Amino acid sequence: MILIENVHLLTMDTERHEYEHGYIAAQDKRIVAVGAGPAPDDLFADAERIVDGRGCLATPGFINTHHHLYQWVTRGLAVDSTLFQWLTTLYPVWAGIDEDCVRTAACGGLARLAQTGCTTSTDHHYVFPRDGGDVLGAEIEAAAEVGLRFHPTRGSMDLGQKDGGLPPDNVVEDRESILAASADAISRWHDPSADSMLRIGLAPCSPFSVTGEVMRESAALARAHGVHLHTHLAETQDESAFCRERFGKTPLEYVESLGWIGPDVWFAHGVHFSDAEVAHLGATRTGVAHCPTSNARLGAGIARARDLRAAGARIGIGVDGAASNEACSMIDDVRHALLFARARGGPQALSVRDAVEMATLGGADVLGRSDHLGSLEVGKMADIALWDLRGYAHADIADPVAALVMGSTPPVKLLLVNGIPVVEDTHVLKVDEESLAVEAESAHRRLLERTK
Ligand code: ZN
Repeated sequence: MILIENVHLLTMDTERHEYEHGYIAAQDKRIVAVGAGPAPDDLFADAERIVDGRGCLATPGFINTHHHLYQWVTRGLAVDSTLFQWLTTLYPVWAGIDEDCVRTAACGGLARLAQTGCTTSTDHHYVFPRDGGDVLGAEIEAAAEVGLRFHPTRGSMDLGQKDGGLPPDNVVEDRESILAASADAISRWHDPSADSMLRIGLAPCSPFSVTGEVMRESAALARAHGVHLHTHLAETQDESAFCRERFGKTPLEYVESLGWIGPDVWFAHGVHFSDAEVAHLGATRTGVAHCPTSNARLGAGIARARDLRAAGARIGIGVDGAASNEACSMIDDVRHALLFARARGGPQALSVRDAVEMATLGGADVLGRSDHLGSLEVGKMADIALWDLRGYAHADIADPVAALVMGSTPPVKLLLVNGIPVVEDTHVLKVDEESLAVEAESAHRRLLERTK
């Protein structure tokens, strides 16, 4: 058993209890005790490790609901572009990826997520070069190595330029290969158990890179196996114009006509929804991955986080791919969600604690895992971030939750996933940061060489 004592606890339980001075204990993957005041004597007796949490804040581990890990080694390109300009610059680079560079990229992206409080991450992988090897398997290996809970999605693109899509024809697959590989990914890797470290989703890329047939058949396949569905939606005005021109519909009307709505679906971005669409997403309990940093970097606009929450939609936070968010820091995205919501809707638009809720319980809800993840409660999985607020940058900030969300990024003293330490005193235990930097730089260079 690990016991953390003398800690400020933000539980995110049903009553949103917060204990200024409390304790939390984890054993056999789960939280076995949490409460206010000094820890009871029997916990001390059973503890193999006691962590002094004085000056620290414990929160549920963050849940990242949108990412493209492979992009970790294609950062810093097309830095002043719109989404469509950025995509057309990067597609040829991405066409050269293989399982080696995806493994390196995923290690880098997941290690950085862990250092910024994340215990569960999704990934949306949709580039499968013919001679690239097992790229999905490579990122799954990387997640197991780093130690994060992982929800990779088998993505796809089958609408190339010759058919009126945006991606070049050499980075798209055909429908049969996509559906066969999707079914194979589910049967190889999907683990539906409560403490699962690995769940698969299906994720055709976007309305402008995938045909309606693949969207519809992916939905049928996902529902036959009880896995979730994910795609990019309503990210930019260019996408809305594409859907209006090609389908005579808004992006949401279009994907709903293909069966894409409901609690087993979550959309990345959701920036451009009308009032009626926001209400509809709430009524159908559809999920949204709010990606404030990426949306701001690409100048796409900002999702209506407050309205979506008020409507009852499931909403979590996503860092999005590293090529449109070079930092890929979960706590930065929590901060940006707060700041941009207020820039848009005034000082009451999102509270400090609601911003953390979006990144924890909200993310668990988006992934259909709120029964077991997202809060610090007895019986839930022991996914815990312990933030060290003792340094000069935070020590005198009156409210520790404000120190976390509004202050500079505090060091992670301890990060537990299923009760197992993944980060200790800011270091990701299983990753050698120096060799990772060398490998990532060389993978980046290799990819750019291949596009010449
Ligand atoms: Zn994305």
